[in-house]
Amino acid sequence: MNCLKGVDPMDNDIKLLGVEDMAEQQYLPAGCFSSWLRRTRNTLVKENGTDVPCGECKACCTSSYFIHIRPEETQTLTQINRKLLFAAPGLPKGNVLLGYYENGHCPMLIDNKCSIYEHRSLTCRSYDCRIFTAAGIEAGDTDKALINQRIRHWKFSYPTKRDSDQHSAVQAAAMFLRERAECFPAELVPKNSSQLAILAIKVYDVFLKYNDESGKNGRLFPDSRVAKAIMKANEKFEARRIKFQAVTNH
Ligand code: SF4
Repeated sequence: MNCLKGVDPMDNDIKLLGVEDMAEQQYLPAGCFSSWLRRTRNTLVKENGTDVPCGECKACCTSSYFIHIRPEETQTLTQINRKLLFAAPGLPKGNVLLGYYENGHCPMLIDNKCSIYEHRSLTCRSYDCRIFTAAGIEAGDTDKALINQRIRHWKFSYPTKRDSDQHSAVQAAAMFLRERAECFPAELVPKNSSQLAILAIKVYDVFLKYNDESGKNGRLFPDSRVAKAIMKANEKFEARRIKFQAVTNH
């Protein structure tokens, strides 16, 4: 019998996705980059589920993830034995985490199927491992090996220059956040690969603008200016999300 894990390890060692590794893999179509990016940003604002062509893949259900469940997700909560849940550190009362077994498997995964699929949490419904392919980083260390394999399989398409420019901008944002953490206040520095990829997706347009200006006049911008623009872009994105949530919840 596996023991349930109850401590959230922080993954500070965010690794780049090796380009040479990707070239050796058999690819899975990840969709047109601009369309995917627009849908993903909308999902982050609306906090609703997303549609990922997972097929038979269960990598995210077997990769040592703590699943956040909000107090309002009553349908989900009624499906899960309370003994499997514990209070989510740093979040208001009522927010809980579903742990995982020693082998990294979610306790709701039974016979390789999600036993609560129709009522799975928003965290599960909105998980899309293509965020790592988009940001050009790995999902984590050995406990995320299956996801790392999967994210090397995804291949975006670039029917227009905008698609490739946007992908370059997301990757540039991820690279800057990873390598210039000292430019940001502690609370904005992503603690793990998922947070870093999501932040890069939120603020990528800063790099769309700066890449464009640098390309035109060869000008390089100081890190402090780029970091300030990133913080402003993140605030703008969060304001949009909060406004949307306030309107829908009333
Ligand atoms: S609740 Fe279901 S979808 Fe979510 S991680 Fe567990 S098995 Fe996977």
